[in-house]
Amino acid sequence: MELSNTGSMTGGSLQVDEERLCPECGATMVEFDRLTEDGAVFIWYACTREDCTGQWLSKKALRMRSF
Ligand SMILES: [Zn+2]
Repeated sequence: MELSNTGSMTGGSLQVDEERLCPECGATMVEFDRLTEDGAVFIWYACTREDCTGQWLSKKALRMRSF
């Protein structure tokens, strides 16, 4: 199966500001899980190759809310 990623995602709210590459094989990774904890977002990325188990955990800080 070939994934065609032309960067034109229509009808979705998904925002990808940077593309993750698999540390194992260099293929494109996709987000498969997201955890929010204490003002930070932890995003798990998984490799798009079926025969690869590469994963990547990214941490992003949420914007502080004004009280
Ligand atoms: Zn991989």
